[in-house]
Amino acid sequence: MDFSLTADQRALAERVRTFTEKRITPFYQDSDREGQFRPDLLPELAAEGLFALRVPVEYGGLGLDAVSTGVALEELARGDLTACYPVLNAALVAGIITANGTPEQRARWLPAIARGDAVVAFCMTEPSHGTDAAAVKLRAEPNGPHDWRLVGEKTSIMLGAYATHGMIFARTSDAPRARGVTAFYARLDDQHVVRSTLRDLGSRSGGRSTLVFDGLPVQVSDVVGETGLGFAQGMRGFDYSRALIALMAVSVAQAALDDAISHAQHRRAFEKPLGQFQGIAFPLAECATYLHAARLVAYEALWRNDAGLEHRLAANMAKWWAPKVAVEATHQALLTLGHFGYSEEQPIAQRLRDLIGTQLADGTANATKLVVARELLGREYAP
Ligand SMILES: Cc1cc2nc3c(=O)[nH]c(=O)nc-3n(C[C@H](O)[C@H](O)[C@H](O)COP(=O)(O)OP(=O)(O)OC[C@H]3O[C@@H](n4cnc5c(N)ncnc54)[C@H](O)[C@@H]3O)c2cc1C
Repeated sequence: MDFSLTADQRALAERVRTFTEKRITPFYQDSDREGQFRPDLLPELAAEGLFALRVPVEYGGLGLDAVSTGVALEELARGDLTACYPVLNAALVAGIITANGTPEQRARWLPAIARGDAVVAFCMTEPSHGTDAAAVKLRAEPNGPHDWRLVGEKTSIMLGAYATHGMIFARTSDAPRARGVTAFYARLDDQHVVRSTLRDLGSRSGGRSTLVFDGLPVQVSDVVGETGLGFAQGMRGFDYSRALIALMAVSVAQAALDDAISHAQHRRAFEKPLGQFQGIAFPLAECATYLHAARLVAYEALWRNDAGLEHRLAANMAKWWAPKVAVEATHQALLTLGHFGYSEEQPIAQRLRDLIGTQLADGTANATKLVVARELLGREYAP
């Protein structure tokens, strides 16, 4: 068993770390206060090649493996979890298009994603359902032999305020549940899409939005994969993106833990450094252990993906567990910092608020436990 990164992966980590320290971390708290990305963030992520990670080389991307994508996102998350979402979405959507699109569609859409000209949103959740994702109500209404109009509402769409394009899951037939759902890739900057941004606990710069579709025109050439198979394609994408979110969460918590460790070494109480009290040191030791273990599960999922092995189980294990231990570790770190941690002058409170979002985004703990349970017990035990 080899746990080491390749030379290329180490170089990528180094490059993204340097970029993050210079261009991401210094703006973390300002982005939260302003409730939006600074205007140059997306172009800078693009210039770093971070939207190109999973786009094949022949379509202008870097064609990197899943583990490398995890390495890059871990480094970026250390500076700002929310800045990871555009990179995560690009990787997820590019992956789905690469796996299911026609050569013509790949050539039409992937280079723009890689360059950052297309900022993509993943539009699944609706006002009436989230976990029960197959209950899609947004309709694709026929509009001629090869055209539809999208009518309905999506909500909780991360980057909804910024996205130029969306992968939109719509009902194209009366077939029940997942079998009637088709994935479209379409422009969102259109008069038939009305957006409103939500006021959130954390990830306030992420522009999570509600999108009302009042007849967005789409064509047969905008269908990703086959009609009626969109839901399954999206879920296969989650088998990979869930491990990436797990790594993002662990990385944020590790930054919080590092601050807490430093504080425990330097802050004194009762004439000793805090760290000499086991009531302080042991919880930090436990959190470090949980984060390390969760990180390994997430990387195993990505490694299995790269090796062409089944990885749904590990990815879903990582997705319910890593955000949970990340929130707990960050809470513990905040308490270790005492009143300093409670103040928004320090980044740790924001980290905790941001991390709670990872417990919901891309599926809650319960949703991912349902997948784990189904893999363990069998499909007939799913609700
Ligand atoms: C930061 C953030 C980013 C997001 N980004 C996106 C995005 O880009 N695109 C997108 O489409 N969506 C996005 N979402 C939405 C997210 O996917 C949903 O919030 C999630 O799927 C849960 O759906 P829901 O909120 O409607 O909760 P519900 O489905 O109403 O569930 C409510 C609670 O009940 C639990 N529950 C539901 N069913 C079961 C069951 N069978 N067994 C046990 N427990 C159950 C859930 O775990 C949850 O705790 C985002 C959400 C957040 C917070």
